Amino acid sequence: MKCPKCDVEMKTLELNGAETYECRECEGIWVDNVDEKKALEMTPEIFSVDELRNLRKVYRPLEGSQNEEVKYFKCPRCSDLMWRKNYMGHSGIIVDKCKMHGTFFDKGELEKAAEFISKGGVEYQKLKIAEQGIAETQSKLVREVNRVERQMYRLHWLGRFLSMLGL
Ligand SMILES: [Zn+2]
Ligand SMILES: [Zn+2]
Repeated sequence: MKCPKCDVEMKTLELNGAETYECRECEGIWVDNVDEKKALEMTPEIFSVDELRNLRKVYRPLEGSQNEEVKYFKCPRCSDLMWRKNYMGHSGIIVDKCKMHGTFFDKGELEKAAEFISKGGVEYQKLKIAEQGIAETQSKLVREVNRVERQMYRLHWLGRFLSMLGL
């Protein structure tokens, strides 16, 4: 398999028992989706809310757009262009990702990603998704309450109108 950035053959690299690929040239690492959990040691762990809150302080989603010109690279498995993604949503580590096949980490990024995960990154992402879900449900609920209130208001006036007519 060839490096998506340098187009040179990559060598296999065993990472926590998972087979990944490292570029001899740029030292970037390709991790197949199926091996991601193993390679990055995403074992279930329990983190306290304080630990997760702390993550929020240390890691932030990138703000604004960076000025550097963005280049897209092809997935070494299917040759489709990969997405540039903030790894795990909040790590601030920008990786190239093919949704179907895997992730390419530039030199040093994989270590940073592993550190983020070891501090609770996976749980943090779940928490963020849950919070988003709750916020959406709440706003739906508010809309529904408003709708019912408007209905009640109309019924109220209809009632007054009918009673005026003596019905
Ligand atoms: Zn390379
Ligand atoms: Zn692909």
